[in-house]
Amino acid sequence: MRFDKKGLLIVFSGPSGVGKGTVRKLVFEKLANKLYYSISMTTRKIREGEQDGKDYFFVSREKFLQEIEKDNLLEYNEYVGNFYGTPKNIVFDKMNSGTDVMLEIEVNGARQIKEQIPNCVSIFIAPPSYGALKDRLVGRQTDSPEVIEKRLEKAKDEIGLAWAYDYIVINDSIEEAANEVVSIIESEHLRVERVLNDYYDYINRDTK
Ligand code: 5GP
Repeated sequence: MRFDKKGLLIVFSGPSGVGKGTVRKLVFEKLANKLYYSISMTTRKIREGEQDGKDYFFVSREKFLQEIEKDNLLEYNEYVGNFYGTPKNIVFDKMNSGTDVMLEIEVNGARQIKEQIPNCVSIFIAPPSYGALKDRLVGRQTDSPEVIEKRLEKAKDEIGLAWAYDYIVINDSIEEAANEVVSIIESEHLRVERVLNDYYDYINRDTK
């Protein structure tokens, strides 16, 4: 039974290439669309196989700067030469209507969210080794060797920031990692501070 009326804000973060997207997609399958994925805005070029409005909203730098100016972004960051940001209104609308929202963002953005919304659930997805991370970045053939080196260097700094998260999930097996994320989400829905008010309203409804 679910008593908390508001949706959770789940912040999924970790180094680029760690497999956040793959784990996230499996989590969505397991939770049978009970989650809403927040589509970010970015100034990065669209990659083969990506779709505008599905993977990201791909925009010009000018448009991105306008969105910052209008205060339409919940958080944003410049990452390896491109801007990435979370559109604000849709996140709150979904949470208020009881839907869990998942953000998949890099660590600087995750820190901004934790500062603004301390009761968000932050999950750090970590690689089992640096070698595994490099293999993935090379294997996906989307970045030049220079960009891969930059992403790897950044990953080392990012892994050093894992202490600031609520949970760490090591992505050794995608299946296990996704199951762990599902357990976290399910447990978070049972936290006393999220449940108790609505539960008391519910059991006292006949006596009021
Ligand atoms: P990629 O270029 O590989 O799609 O993404 C690069 C990094 O930016 C990834 O770590 C990704 O999670 C992160 N990212 C994606 N969307 C956002 C966002 O809205 N805000 C922030 N801060 N990072 C994001």
